[in-house]
Amino acid sequence: MTDRLILWDNVLNVVKSSTNEAIFNSFFSVVHPLSFDDNRFIVKVDSPLVADWIKQKYFSIIEDSLSKSAGKKIQLFIQCKGMKEKVITSAAKTSGKKKKIHVTNLNPNFLFNNFIIGNSNQMAHAAAYASGQNPGHAYNPLFIYGGVGLGKTHLMQAIGHAAITKNKNLNVLYISSERFVNQYIDAIQTRTLPKFRESYRSNVDVLLVDDIQFLSGKERMQEEFFHTFNALHNEGKQIVMTSDKSPQKLKSIENRLVNRFEWGMVVDIQSPDFETRVAIIHKKLEQYGQKFDEDICFYLANKVRNDVRKIEGAIVKLLGYASIKNEPVNLEMAKECLKGYISSHIITLDFIQKSVSEFFDLRTNDLKSSKRPRSIAYPRQLAMYLCRNMTNSSLTEIAQSFGGKDHTTVLYACRKIEKKKSEDEVMKQQLLTLEKNIIDRVQMM
Ligand code: ADP
Ligand code: MG
Repeated sequence: MTDRLILWDNVLNVVKSSTNEAIFNSFFSVVHPLSFDDNRFIVKVDSPLVADWIKQKYFSIIEDSLSKSAGKKIQLFIQCKGMKEKVITSAAKTSGKKKKIHVTNLNPNFLFNNFIIGNSNQMAHAAAYASGQNPGHAYNPLFIYGGVGLGKTHLMQAIGHAAITKNKNLNVLYISSERFVNQYIDAIQTRTLPKFRESYRSNVDVLLVDDIQFLSGKERMQEEFFHTFNALHNEGKQIVMTSDKSPQKLKSIENRLVNRFEWGMVVDIQSPDFETRVAIIHKKLEQYGQKFDEDICFYLANKVRNDVRKIEGAIVKLLGYASIKNEPVNLEMAKECLKGYISSHIITLDFIQKSVSEFFDLRTNDLKSSKRPRSIAYPRQLAMYLCRNMTNSSLTEIAQSFGGKDHTTVLYACRKIEKKKSEDEVMKQQLLTLEKNIIDRVQMM
């Protein structure tokens, strides 16, 4: 029983780190781990659309992750009410036999082929491409930085795919810094630090470390990463890192690490211009096997400007809307459906804190304080949860904005609210109202 939930939790973590939030939230919330015995893992999905989607896009990621966590080959089965086949199996899959030391947890869609090149990302693309063709030799390390949703993770994983395509024997390991930290903490608790180190320092040919800004302020983790970095770099293994800021602007990261980040190549990604956004929309639609009229593409490209992930979110939302209405997408529908759609970068942490404190008739400073009474602690936890879910800020950034707390406090709050909201109707309603208030206010700006 617990096994199943733990395995599934691991899967969610892997999928979350390799997919976009809109998709993750809308799709994975309706997938439930049903049973696990021997080597069969069955998930139940309520919507055929989602079942299909998962079958097409996430089957290998999920199976790989299950097998990795369980330490043996696990087969995934999807069960869905409305589907003709009662259970979809992995029978249609072709590969998967090759034995590797590391199961590469790369998102299969993050390929160079699917990446649209524009002025905003040309340099980053060129550097990434060269690294993928010649890992360890072209640019090492490669450091890619830029705002949220601009394709850093995509490019980084494309390097991994390209490296494997060129040489099947290479071991590519992708990890988010957040996960790296969690694994490290786990390793300390379970006294398996040597094993943890081993897993990163030997048998890795290409190490992809995403969102390295997450190491800010975590001295021991930086130390750990420093040694991992050195061990791999000394052996000429490729290291790629991404971050939301340039190495110089990273706060609370030791100089010796910043210095190493700059050893190879540092490139940035900017927001895409209109033409690039339209091209990205075409590409995404092609991947979903869909086509929109040009006026709809232009409308989308104008509506969502900065964040490619949001563009994707808007397309997914629109497709979902059309499928519920059972009508083809048209411009009117797009306008109606995306009326309230706003780029999450507009919603700031400040903004959420303000809305929550007004709702509960508190001062914002109360939320930022360490006061413990439930009348303050509860709104604070709700606010942290909303910050986590309505913005793209990291746990650390959120913790900072609440008066410089530790990121584990935010993590704890989010887990607690997440767990309780399904049982607690009042909390659920409050969250819905708060979300609506926040969105309404942003739209009035
Ligand atoms: P970041 O890591 O910078 O926050 P991601 O790499 O996760 O952003 O990109 C967010 C989404 O946008 C992904 O689905 C990715 O495929 C897509 N994307 C970003 N840039 C491009 C691009 N230039 N071409 C195609 N898709 C892109
Ligand atoms: Mg990313």
